[in-house]
Amino acid sequence: MAYLTQPDYVKYVCSCGQLKPITNLYFCRHCLKIRCGFCICHEVDSHYCANCLENMPSSEARLKKNRCSSCFDCPSCFHTLSTRATLAQPRQPPQESSSGDAKVENKQPKKMYYLSCFNCRWTSRDVGIPDQPVASGGWPERTNPHATRINQLLDYYKAIAQQEKQEKLEKERKKFAIRGKYITLTDKTGLTGAMARNIAGLPQSEAAASSALASFVPSQAADVGDELPEDIFTKEVNLKQITSMPQRLASPEWQPAAVSRLAPLAKLLSVKRSQRCRACDHNLTKPEYNPGSIKFKIELLAYYHVPEVKIISFETVKPGEKSALLLKLTNPTGHEMQLQLMQPEDLPQVEETEEPKSIEKSLEKSLNLEKDTSSYLSLCRALAPAPALSCRVPAPARALTLSQRDDAAEYDDDAHHDTDDIILWRKSNKLALRLEVVTEPTASPGSPARATLSLQYSYRNTVPPAAAQPQDHTLYTTVILDLGTVSG
Ligand SMILES: [Zn+2]
Ligand SMILES: [Zn+2]
Ligand SMILES: [Zn+2]
Ligand SMILES: [Zn+2]
Repeated sequence: MAYLTQPDYVKYVCSCGQLKPITNLYFCRHCLKIRCGFCICHEVDSHYCANCLENMPSSEARLKKNRCSSCFDCPSCFHTLSTRATLAQPRQPPQESSSGDAKVENKQPKKMYYLSCFNCRWTSRDVGIPDQPVASGGWPERTNPHATRINQLLDYYKAIAQQEKQEKLEKERKKFAIRGKYITLTDKTGLTGAMARNIAGLPQSEAAASSALASFVPSQAADVGDELPEDIFTKEVNLKQITSMPQRLASPEWQPAAVSRLAPLAKLLSVKRSQRCRACDHNLTKPEYNPGSIKFKIELLAYYHVPEVKIISFETVKPGEKSALLLKLTNPTGHEMQLQLMQPEDLPQVEETEEPKSIEKSLEKSLNLEKDTSSYLSLCRALAPAPALSCRVPAPARALTLSQRDDAAEYDDDAHHDTDDIILWRKSNKLALRLEVVTEPTASPGSPARATLSLQYSYRNTVPPAAAQPQDHTLYTTVILDLGTVSG
């Protein structure tokens, strides 16, 4: 979700230090913290084809190489191909013109199907793929010329993985043996080796693995590639006959150089994913399983929980001068919100020691990317760009009250202009603030003008934990306002 009309002039500081627009952030109701794509775990819930909406378990998706078996993309422009039907006149056998009893009853025209692109007019007939008698499926599959080698490599890596697993198990066994408490399953119970391997979750046959290791021939790096054709520099190039780079790379197995070798691309599957807070393991988003549904079972977006700050307008920022800034604040929650603007340095210090305990666990569970928590957090900090700040927005001392969201009030035209020196207008759960930007005299003209502003806001948590009562909290967030560039 993003605004189409406005680039991200206002960025929120995530609890990990990243700067993101509110539309890219999540809000964990359990940690009461803003989370971004970096501080959540992404999990694949289901695979589906975005065209035919067929749903499949991940094992089947892997088997089909994450591609749909009945939908295709155009190899020329990548638009989805449509199946078209034509009537094919069956070939007439040679007949003698003299005989009158011409038998034409089983010479009915037959429906035949081909694939066509409505965008660029490419059809499967262009490349000589024969029409099919059935509408779905049955399209000739091209075999990968390197299939044998790829399978060899796969077997080899599988064998290595198994060997490593075996060695690890061996090590563990030794550790136990030293303690003198370990009795092998096979000794005690008469289990066969195969059964024991089964229990340990190892593949059935060790022999197959070791043979894959033994028979493997490593690839050889060659000094020179294939010779170029003789006429490569003399033959005139016809751009209509050769493929573009994206067209070639869309089918990495064949990489057709000639347009005549293009083939329909089986459509890639999409995934539905749910997202989890790294710190507490709770779901932040969970989509409905049905691929046709765009709804979520859980959807904890910051946009629904954190007050939204938008810039209405601002005067050009000049070094050493004050300029006007109009901000709009919106309370997206269903409860009244108390708001207080602050300077970031006045925020109460929050200690970060609460995270490490469970973060390791959830990290391991997700991608196994970073096991060391401290390095993960420092990575996030390093990624977060330090904004150069040359402007300050002095915060008004008074607290502001924002009423709860009222969907019916969205249709009201009138805003209350009964205002004072700070509030410009009020309308339902929104208000406009008249603020001032103070720019440092040292700010160099042409440099980006940015200001930070912190918000303290009240938040009523209605997530039903052990306590049935909704809990009121005081939360903080910091935004960075992009005010263009410092003028000369
Ligand atoms: Zn984050
Ligand atoms: Zn499909
Ligand atoms: Zn096309
Ligand atoms: Zn959390």
